[in-house]
Amino acid sequence: MKILVVDDDKTFRTMVKAVLEEEGYEVTTAENGVEAWEGLQENKVDMAILDVNMPGMDGFQLLRKIRGDNNLKEMPVLMLTIRAFADDQVHGYESGADDYLTKPFANDILLARIKVLARRILKRNGD
Ligand SMILES: [Mg+2]
Repeated sequence: MKILVVDDDKTFRTMVKAVLEEEGYEVTTAENGVEAWEGLQENKVDMAILDVNMPGMDGFQLLRKIRGDNNLKEMPVLMLTIRAFADDQVHGYESGADDYLTKPFANDILLARIKVLARRILKRNGD
């Protein structure tokens, strides 16, 4: 299972990548929405973890592009933010996020949420 991690914070990106790889996931990273969008045109992934607050193209803008793309619109997306406001979460779900996690979070919470999304992908693929 391939996961794209998009976050402008290098320390965070590296940490999440390590946590996911430890569990056996294949991980690619991007540091902003533009880089992630370009990467997705070349290499499809099974799901994406998007930081909301990023310079240039932020997580919501990237999510909108993903949901508007025929090849990518079904991809599960988990949004990450440090803003714990209810408004943001509502906005996230309305934009088409499958799940939402507020930073900071425990690694096992992240893995539990990822597992739910992974199960949904496997079910859809009929494995
Ligand atoms: Mg950020």
